[in-house]
Amino acid sequence: MTVLVLGGTAEARALAAELHSRAVAVVSSLAGRVARPRLPAGEVRVGGFGGVEGLSTWLREHEVAAVVDATHPFAERIGTNAFAATSAVGVPLLRLARPGWQPAEGDRWHWADDLDAAAELLPGLGSRVFLTSGRQGLAAFAGLDALWFLIRCVDPPEPPLPRQHEVVLNRGPYEVDGERALLAGHRIDVLVTKDSGGSMTAAKLTAARELGLPVVVVRRPPRPATAEVAGVAEAVEWVLRR
Ligand code: NAP
Repeated sequence: MTVLVLGGTAEARALAAELHSRAVAVVSSLAGRVARPRLPAGEVRVGGFGGVEGLSTWLREHEVAAVVDATHPFAERIGTNAFAATSAVGVPLLRLARPGWQPAEGDRWHWADDLDAAAELLPGLGSRVFLTSGRQGLAAFAGLDALWFLIRCVDPPEPPLPRQHEVVLNRGPYEVDGERALLAGHRIDVLVTKDSGGSMTAAKLTAARELGLPVVVVRRPPRPATAEVAGVAEAVEWVLRR
């Protein structure tokens, strides 16, 4: 039996490793966005499938017995495609999604529905922005000429970008001490993040709380209603029950 894990996250890598160690034939799929991705254990394929139709064909041709959608909470399109393709082919689908972040005492969070809404909030909150929403969709901030941005992502972002900015290329996990130093060193007065959840990139939220900075948190987009678990162990159990 082949299990397809739609990946690009730490959870997907952990799941692939667990399944591989239990001799389950697992194929991990990556979109191919990152130049040098961290590769999961077992077989890996890279690149889009070609929409719902392409994914449906792939599932049939590879006799896939189950699909786990362990993609990032903001990878909306592949989630919708996975739901449609597995429904069409009759393959069970599980969503593995890490829980979203919750504000703690002292946090000054402002929720935004999307990146455009986040950009609208910014001028009222600060003038030196730490932008950690990833390399896609930064055009939403490109018109904010009066603000200065520190943009952090894994690979270089594509224009249009805000007029005043500096790019720092890095990937987690991050520690609170480093994040505090980064915020203070660049005199950041507001942070923008997606509600990605998980521990690898949460240190910036602790550092912002300690420094009393406001944080604009972009809400997760809706995903199709399907069986869902929050942890890798539950996903392994689900696969082994099949
Ligand atoms: P997306 O908007 O949901 O997907 C766009 C297209 O990319 C999909 O239609 C699909 O192409 C292809 N694709 C996406 N994920 C794929 C996968 N795991 N395997 C094969 N094809 C995939 O996705 P995105 O937001 O660009 O994210 C791309 C990848 O980066 C995801 O795998 C995600 O887990 C990871 N990631 C995303 C974010 C984020 O903030 N969005 C953050 C960290 C990691 P076809 O239609 O041709 O099949």
